[in-house]
Amino acid sequence: MLANSLEALDKAHLIHPVVSLREHERRGVTILQSGQGCFLTDSAGNRLLDGFAGLWCVNAGYGHKSIVDAAAEQMMRLPYATGYFHFGSEPAIRLAAELAELAPEGVDHVFFTLGGSDAVDSVIRLVRYYWNARGQTAKKNFIALQSGYHGSSSTGSGLTALPLFHEGFDVPGARQHHIPSPNPYRHPAGPDGDAVSAAVVQSFRDKVAELGAENVAAFIMEPIQGSGGVIVPPAGFAKAMQEACRELDILFVVDEVITGFGRTGPIFACEHEGLTPDFITIAKGLTSGYAPMGAVLMADRVYQVIADGAPEGVALGHGLTYSGHPVSAAVGLEVLKLYRGGMIDNAHSVGAYFTRRLAEFRDRPLVGEVRGKGLLAAIELVSDKATKAKFPAEARIGPRLAEIGYRNGIIFRAFNDGTLGFAPPICITEDEVDLLIDRVDATLTEISNA
Ligand code: PMP
Repeated sequence: MLANSLEALDKAHLIHPVVSLREHERRGVTILQSGQGCFLTDSAGNRLLDGFAGLWCVNAGYGHKSIVDAAAEQMMRLPYATGYFHFGSEPAIRLAAELAELAPEGVDHVFFTLGGSDAVDSVIRLVRYYWNARGQTAKKNFIALQSGYHGSSSTGSGLTALPLFHEGFDVPGARQHHIPSPNPYRHPAGPDGDAVSAAVVQSFRDKVAELGAENVAAFIMEPIQGSGGVIVPPAGFAKAMQEACRELDILFVVDEVITGFGRTGPIFACEHEGLTPDFITIAKGLTSGYAPMGAVLMADRVYQVIADGAPEGVALGHGLTYSGHPVSAAVGLEVLKLYRGGMIDNAHSVGAYFTRRLAEFRDRPLVGEVRGKGLLAAIELVSDKATKAKFPAEARIGPRLAEIGYRNGIIFRAFNDGTLGFAPPICITEDEVDLLIDRVDATLTEISNA
C-alpha cells in the first residue's frame, strides 16, 4: 500500500536522472529501502547483491555505524561552516590535509565541491584562470576522449563524449574537442595495446597541431572510462598522454571520480603509472556516497600561478556554499579511516580474485570481451563474436539484462549496448564475489537462451 502510493507520487513529481521520462511513467520506480554490507533490500523485500556500489560510489559498503556516528556528531557540534571569507572548519581542513598526503607527489591543494560534475566544472574555470594569469589568453581549447564521461554540468557535459548527454542540449560547446578512445577491443589499431596507445597519442598531437598548441588549455581523461562502458586504456597510455601534455605546455587533468578510493586497487588509479597530474577530480568514494562531496586536487605549480593571478587582496571569484561542508568532510575522514584500516588491502586481494573469476566468462556465447582492473570491470556482450557486431537498438539488450539480473538477485550497470559494468563495494569478500559470479552466470545463461 505504502509502496503503491509512493509509486504514484514518484510518477507525478520526481524527475529521475538519466531515464526515458515516458518509459519511467509506464514502468514506475524501484524503491530501495535499506542496505547492509554489499546488499540492498527493496520495498518488496527482495535482497540484492549490489554489484555496482549504488552508482560506483558506496565503496565502503552500506550500514557502517562509525560513518553515521561521525556525521551525527558533526551535525550536533556544527552542521555548517562556510569556507568563504577566511572561515573554515576542522573536518574540511583535516580532510584536505589527508587528501594531499595521499595524492601524487606535488598535488598539495584541495578545493571541495558537492560532487563530480562541479569538480570538473571548477577545473574548467580554474584552467582558464590559470592561463589568463600566465598571460596566455588564447589557450581556451579543451581536448577529451571519446566515450569519456565528465559530468552533466552545462560546460562539463561538453567534455563528456556520450551522445546521450549532447543531443538536444546544444553541447559540446565551442572549443571542446574529442579524440578517439584508447579502446584495445574496438580501436582499429587494436588489440595490441602499444599500437592503440601510439595511435591515440598521435591523434592528440594531430588535434593540437590543428588547433595550435598556443590555443590548447587542457586535456582531460579518466584512468578507466567508466560511464563509456568500463574501457581500460592500454598500460602506459595515461603516462604517454601526460608526457605529450608536458611537452606541448598543455595542462593534464585526470578525472578519478570513479577510479579513486580503492576502485582499481590503490587509493588513486594515478598510482598505477606514477602520474603527477596538474588537476585531479574526485567524488563518489571520497565519502562512499554517505554524504555528497567531490573535490579538485591541484598541483602546487598550478596553485602558485592561480594564487598570484589577482592583485593582493582581490578574491578568487569561484565558490560554492557547501564547499568543504563539515558533515560531508567528517564522513570523508571516517571513510578514509576505513579504507586505510583494511579496505584498500581487501580491494587489492579481492580485486585480483574478482578479475580471475570474471575471466571465466570469456568463452561464453555472446561474450565479446571481459576487461577491468581491481573492482572495476565489464563484460561486453556482442551479437557476433567474430565481427564484434553490437546488438541492434530494438533488441533492448541493456534493459533486458538489467531486468534479468535483478530477478537473479544482482544489480550491475546494464549499458544500453549490452555491456555489464561491475563496481561492487571494495569491502566485498571472496564468498560474495562467488555469489556475484553465480548470479551473473545465471543472467548470461538466461539472456543467451532468450
Ligand atoms: N566524472 C566521472 C568520471 C564520473 O564518472 C562522474 C559521475 N558518474 C562525474 C564526473 C560526475 O559526477 P557527479 O555525478 O557526482 O556530478
